[in-house]
Amino acid sequence: MIKYNLTCKSCKLNFDSWFASSLEFEKLKKKSLLICHNCNSFKIEKSVMMPNVINKTSTIKEKFSSNKYKSIKKIINRYQKFVKNNFDYVGENFAYEARSIHYKNTKSEKGIYGHASKKDIKELSEEGIETQLIPWINDKEN
Ligand SMILES: [Zn+2]
Repeated sequence: MIKYNLTCKSCKLNFDSWFASSLEFEKLKKKSLLICHNCNSFKIEKSVMMPNVINKTSTIKEKFSSNKYKSIKKIINRYQKFVKNNFDYVGENFAYEARSIHYKNTKSEKGIYGHASKKDIKELSEEGIETQLIPWINDKEN
């Protein structure tokens, strides 16, 4: 599954939508199955994927009992694999990279993921850059 931030060229509406793959998005677009629910325009463009902020393991562990954590870990591992394959890791440069994507309006196929402080996330959102928190477990941890 892949989340795209879409923009309607006619009324400038922004909305998010999930697709099975980037290929599925292109297919739907070609068949004119992507319609703006605000003005019924077919001029839907994909904008930059939402950057992801890594949520540290400690916070996840705090939230769940150890049994529940084990089953959640499996899901997180799968999700992690997906993120690693589809997003570029930018580490501590997250805020910088997210801004450069936002302001240069780079039409990049790949989104980014990395670390950001709460302050960074707040500042980014004040600048209109939405981020997504993703749960993360280090490979070394059990
Ligand atoms: Zn529209």
